[in-house]
Amino acid sequence: MKTIASMPKLAYGAEDLAPVISKETIDFHYGKHLQTYVTNLNKLVENTEFANMSLEEIAAKAEGGIGNNAGQVLNHTLYFEQFASKPNKTAPTGKLLKAIQESFGSFEEMKKLFSNAATTLFGSGWAWLCKDDAGKLYIKQMFNADNPLRYDMKPILTFDVWEHAYYLDYQNRRADYITALWSIIDWNVIEKRFE
Ligand code: MN
Repeated sequence: MKTIASMPKLAYGAEDLAPVISKETIDFHYGKHLQTYVTNLNKLVENTEFANMSLEEIAAKAEGGIGNNAGQVLNHTLYFEQFASKPNKTAPTGKLLKAIQESFGSFEEMKKLFSNAATTLFGSGWAWLCKDDAGKLYIKQMFNADNPLRYDMKPILTFDVWEHAYYLDYQNRRADYITALWSIIDWNVIEKRFE
C-alpha cells in the first residue's frame, strides 16, 4: 500500500520565520497539528476506495473524516511551502501580476481584499487566492478544511486563520498576524502555482 500523505519538507528552519511566525508556532502547527492530519489520513484511507488515489483527488472528492484530514494536509502543505525568511521580492511579477491587475485592479487592492477575507472569516478556515480553468483569479473564504479543488479551482495562495495558526504569537489579534504574513510570502512559489 502506498503512503497517501507525507510531511512537506520546509525550505527554512523552524526559527527562520520569526518574528512573523515563531519557532514555537512552527513546532506546534507544523510539527504537531499537521503531523496529526498526515497520520490520521494515512490510517483512515487504509482499505477504502481512496487508498490508491492522490492526495489532491481525495481532498477534492472525499467527505467526512477522510475529506477533512485530506483537506487539512493539502491546505497546510500549500501554506508551509509558500514562505521564505527573506523573500527576494515583495510583490508578484510577470503573468501573475498581470492576472491580479485584470481581476482586482492592482496588487495593493488584491492584498486589501484578501486581508479582509482572512480577517472577517468567522471561526476556523482559510482565505484563498485561486484560479479557474480560464485563468481568472478569485478571493474566497473557505471554512474548516475546505479547499479550491472541491470547486474545480487551482489553489494559488492561502492564509490559515484557524486560531492554532496565530494564537501563540498574536493571541486574539488575527489582523496583525495577517498583516505580518505578507512579508514572508515567497512570490516565486506563488507564481509557479499560477503558471
Ligand atoms: Mn493550521
